[in-house]
Amino acid sequence: MKADIVTIFPDFFGGPLDYGITRRASEMGLAKIEVHDLRQFTHDRHRTVDDRPFGGGEGMVLKPEPIFDCLEALELARREQRLAGGVKESVILLSAQGERFTQKVAAELAALDRIVLICGRYEGVDERVADYLADRELSIGDYVLSGGELAAAVVIEAVMRLLPGAVGNAASTRQESFVEQAVRKSAAAEGDGPDSTCGSGGLLDYPHYTRPAEFRGMAVPEVLINGNHQEIRRWRREQALKKTLCNRPDLLEGVELSNEDKKIIAGIRSGKNGFRS
Ligand code: SAH
Repeated sequence: MKADIVTIFPDFFGGPLDYGITRRASEMGLAKIEVHDLRQFTHDRHRTVDDRPFGGGEGMVLKPEPIFDCLEALELARREQRLAGGVKESVILLSAQGERFTQKVAAELAALDRIVLICGRYEGVDERVADYLADRELSIGDYVLSGGELAAAVVIEAVMRLLPGAVGNAASTRQESFVEQAVRKSAAAEGDGPDSTCGSGGLLDYPHYTRPAEFRGMAVPEVLINGNHQEIRRWRREQALKKTLCNRPDLLEGVELSNEDKKIIAGIRSGKNGFRS
């Protein structure tokens, strides 16, 4: 995959993209990330990228010309072709007003050959960029950042780790929080340990523990130590459901629950299952 980032602060990305899986994906040749300095696409002595808003009001707005020029230099397919799905390319404007960036969107983007991320600044970007140049606007959450750079780094990280081969153990990216298509093998068919049967299925992940089994008086749940795969699977599913119910009940609306899940939820709601309500 090729990722192009368009920004007025190219140096910003030195840090975030140089670590962990993003770095690994680049080194392994799975991804090529290029950062483009918007000021290189200005034509005046002051390399002006912003101007005052028409209609008055606070702050400055990123001008359209350098952004259009920069995108033209990237030699992408035409916007109509991109929008029709004829090519695996997407031009994304990071924006607080965008549709929410989710794991599902990350998976969609990971299937493309090329993504371009345009980072706004100041009061935002001249709307003609959203209307005529970008294919979609993405927001990383319901809060306002000062620029699109952190948001672009978030998108890149979430997408890169989904590229086949980027994460050493591919199963781990199929089982984590929010992943809807988690493998739900029946417990009876399960032969190789409990893990793949309690994949999140669109819920939050279950809690993880490692050694030591007891630390400053805090013990790891007994069930994880006794080696009964069936019990571990059920416990993990219970915990995932409980955490989702507490922290993100909205996620439960979108997922398919098994009869066992429904029973567990009823138990949690009635304060059984050893859970505090
Ligand atoms: N006036 C705008 C905020 C501009 S913030 C508003 O009220 O909606 C400046 C830039 O930061 C934006 O152009 C965008 O690129 C980036 N940004 C801010 N919040 C963001 C978010 N939640 N997700 C993605 N990008 C964001």
